[in-house]
Amino acid sequence: MTNPLFDKLVAPLANREGMFLTDAAGTEISGKSFYATAMSLASALKGLGLKPGDRMAVQVEKSPEALALYCAAVATGVVFLPLNTAYTADEVAYFVSDAGASLLVGDPAKAEKLTPIAETNGAKFETLDSKGRGSLRDKADAAGSDFTPIERSGDDMAAILYTSGTTGRSKGAMLSQNNLLSNAEVLVQEWRFDSSDVLLHALPIFHTHGLFVASNVVMLSGGSMIFLPGFKTDEAIKWLPKATTMMGVPTFYTRLLDTPAFTRELVSHMRLFTSGSAPLLAETHKQFEERTGHRILERYGMTETNMNTSNPYDGDRRAGTVGMPLPGVEVVITDPQTGEQLPVGEPGMIEVRGPNVFKGYWQMPEKTKEELRENGFFITGDIGVIDQDGYVSIVGRQKDLIITGGYNVYPKEIELILDEQPGVLESAVVGVPHPDFGEAVVAVLIAKPGETIDQAAIKASMEQQLAKFKQPKHIAVIDDLPRNTMGKVQKNLLRQQFNSLFA
Ligand code: ATP
Ligand code: MG
Repeated sequence: MTNPLFDKLVAPLANREGMFLTDAAGTEISGKSFYATAMSLASALKGLGLKPGDRMAVQVEKSPEALALYCAAVATGVVFLPLNTAYTADEVAYFVSDAGASLLVGDPAKAEKLTPIAETNGAKFETLDSKGRGSLRDKADAAGSDFTPIERSGDDMAAILYTSGTTGRSKGAMLSQNNLLSNAEVLVQEWRFDSSDVLLHALPIFHTHGLFVASNVVMLSGGSMIFLPGFKTDEAIKWLPKATTMMGVPTFYTRLLDTPAFTRELVSHMRLFTSGSAPLLAETHKQFEERTGHRILERYGMTETNMNTSNPYDGDRRAGTVGMPLPGVEVVITDPQTGEQLPVGEPGMIEVRGPNVFKGYWQMPEKTKEELRENGFFITGDIGVIDQDGYVSIVGRQKDLIITGGYNVYPKEIELILDEQPGVLESAVVGVPHPDFGEAVVAVLIAKPGETIDQAAIKASMEQQLAKFKQPKHIAVIDDLPRNTMGKVQKNLLRQQFNSLFA
């Protein structure tokens, strides 16, 4: 009997006496004990009547038990559907109904709101809290850990992972066992993970980064994790001495750099820092190297494809790039209008093909057809460029492209210049409706703490550095950029905010 993802990721934990997870309190959980929890949860799922292919929506706080629940889904063939803990009950209702979930697992504190949602949708409701306790755990304890994994093939669906909803309503990406396994295998190899690795895991596990990139890679390599509920700078500083690697979003790195206690000595023993999910500023990359001597390895991926490109482990990790296509993954740049492949150096649509690419959007055949070509290439919606050496740089999202007076403007080009201006911490450039130009370029700036921004000086500098059509027609200084829980700037909210500026 085989179940490829289970056999490679979970089965090896069964006899592992050594530590697999350390929680924030310092409690060590052996592979064996984690495995027993996962199998008990699998027995509970079976007891609840869940069958292979049924969907289980899970909105719970991060805990070792929550990760064990993912492993239980793999063992039972139940499709795992993790949900952002920040989602409101209304949002959860949408996902439960859209996915046709048979079971909703939620925090007991939200039971009052979530129970009726499950009922309306004909799903069962069970609870699991941040300590790994709740009705589901009780059922698991009663059911016991004697469980034989269900037979599955690599093509069977392992998860429906909803996209972050940065550009619009979240879409459910159907990911097969092979999508996940092939990517984990490539990343273990490319990033040199092995059983001696200890990953500082402070990412959420409802997203591809923390769940698949981080957890799958560690499970496959036989390594272990310091499993923190979230990222807090002081906690990270406390645990870094015990880790060999950390995977982060760019805000982890900027926050560490803002802390004097984050020193070269603290991380001199570390093997690898990786970054993804959002663009890492070249400036952050540089500052990090100056402070620590480590060059952050930036990579690029998304819910629908897992990871596509990565900077090299041994070669040159180039700031501002996301590296080269991973082995087995093809990346091409095409003309967004015609779909024709563009020559090296020209920005266009990033398309990817490989064993990592998803099977389509859950119950969205039209959308799937629009974005997934018959020849297997997925049209990512990201605009990028590949240089002579094969390094990919992300220029921005196609939805953020500004067309002003008939000219294309890529916000990133302007943002990079704005970020260099005195007093500017960060910036976001968006297009808003304009009666003459169609869209107008608007620059939104955040000041460095304690500094003020001289708008006239910035205007003058823009006039010198940029063609007239690219120059912002309005500069606004606000307190903070709107970000979603993955640290991604929500430009749609900025567009809304400044929508009637020129109306
Ligand atoms: P939605 O598709 O619902 O609008 P989303 O695209 O933000 O949301 P995710 O799948 O979580 O949802 O994020 C993938 C996107 O994140 C990529 O398409 C890309 O735009 C961005 N991204 C990931 N890694 C990087 C990186 N290293 N640099 C720049 N952008 C990145
Ligand atoms: Mg997306």
